[in-house]
Amino acid sequence: MTDLRIAIVGFGKIARDQHLSAIAATPGATLAAVASRNASLPDLPHFATIEELLEQGPPIDAVSLCTPPQVRRAQAAAALAAGKHVMLEKPPGTSVAELDPLIAMAADAKRTLFATWHSRHAPAVEPARAWLATRRIKSVHINWKEDVRIWHPGQAWIWEPGGLGVFDPGVNALSILTRILPRPVFVTAAELAFPSNCQAPIAANLTLTDLAGLPVTAEFDFRQIGPQSWDILVEADQGQMTLSRGGRIMAVDGKVVADAPDEEYRELYHRFVELAATGASDVDLAPLRLVADAFLLGRRTLVEPFVV
Ligand code: NAP
Repeated sequence: MTDLRIAIVGFGKIARDQHLSAIAATPGATLAAVASRNASLPDLPHFATIEELLEQGPPIDAVSLCTPPQVRRAQAAAALAAGKHVMLEKPPGTSVAELDPLIAMAADAKRTLFATWHSRHAPAVEPARAWLATRRIKSVHINWKEDVRIWHPGQAWIWEPGGLGVFDPGVNALSILTRILPRPVFVTAAELAFPSNCQAPIAANLTLTDLAGLPVTAEFDFRQIGPQSWDILVEADQGQMTLSRGGRIMAVDGKVVADAPDEEYRELYHRFVELAATGASDVDLAPLRLVADAFLLGRRTLVEPFVV
């Protein structure tokens, strides 16, 4: 079987930090081109836009869209129309409904649409899911707090409509939550703190539950100074389970039971190659729906302006 020839579109932080090395390490995947307005790679065909890539570029089978969410729908539609498989960075869109026509396009064209949730591939997520499957869960708390200046330098798009603000990392926590819990949860209340000069929240507190009344709370904050936290704490009838470092480490009653190297993006590309072999799609919108519902239900407060 020949390699899946992939072009990265939007060569920014995550493309550099993760996609490049993950493609290089994935059997059956080859990086064939880059489309980015201001960035290129030596010895690789480069185009400023996805339109130029699709019209003038070398033969490719797939695109990996690493651009901000606000521009990805149009890019995904152009790529699918050109017969390419499409991998979407998270979140898959700026709205839930905009994914429907893309899913339909991919099915009609027999091409893959893969909406990735990299945090679901963190090494302790599946062990946590297995542990919770056999226990009675009493409560869940998410503590997801990071310093936006460290993790999102110069990313003005994150503060614009559709940029999600603190839900940009927060949706990662929700992608894990919706994977490890045995039943679907939904948002019942939200408090959203908007900087007075921004269109997206800098902090959010969510209350969620399921049909059995499970109490789930989440605290997301972009203003964290000092230790950063990407933790999910679960009280169960047989102990307390902690999933920390974004799903990398699982502990039960303080004792580490799962800790392995992070191979999230290698797993994503392995899955992309697998899906593209048959043109199947994988699009789970559950985490994005929770974010959308937080915006629907959210009680808003204005806080001090965000200054870089
Ligand atoms: P980023 O550093 O801002 O990179 C995105 C790149 O897309 C930019 O460098 C830019 O490259 C291009 N771009 C920006 N605006 C564009 C526009 N209007 N039209 C076309 N291209 C545009 O952002 P990022 O951190 O890589 O994040 C990208 C996506 O990956 C986000 O959805 C984010 O949630 C997700 N993600 C990020 C991380 C992380 O740690 N940063 C982790 C996981 C997932 P050019 O100027 O060269 O066109």
